[in-house]
Amino acid sequence: MHELSLAESMIEQLAEALKSESSPVTRIEKIDLEIGSMSGVEKDAFEFVFPFAAEGTVAEGAQLTFREVELQVKCMDCGSVTSPEYPFVSCVSCGSSKTDILQGKDFKILQMEVS
Ligand SMILES: [Zn+2]
Repeated sequence: MHELSLAESMIEQLAEALKSESSPVTRIEKIDLEIGSMSGVEKDAFEFVFPFAAEGTVAEGAQLTFREVELQVKCMDCGSVTSPEYPFVSCVSCGSSKTDILQGKDFKILQMEVS
């Protein structure tokens, strides 16, 4: 389960970023995350391990919200923008495998609320 190490490194990054704030942050209230369907991160697994990773850190008790982004590719052959079912990334329209991934690859923090 790589979600745990992912959660740990995310919290480390957040804690590091918060050190540069002018007023000291004692607690992260809420974290908004984006999960692409192709990011390899399982939302449920991440939610499950997060409290373990957050224990004793500024992120302890933080509420998580997720924005799930579905995979979207642009076909180099026919130009269609379609949403194939991951793990397939070929064009739904013509079946070409020459596609550019437009979205759905990322796992990132959109914003957070602190107190
Ligand atoms: Zn196509």
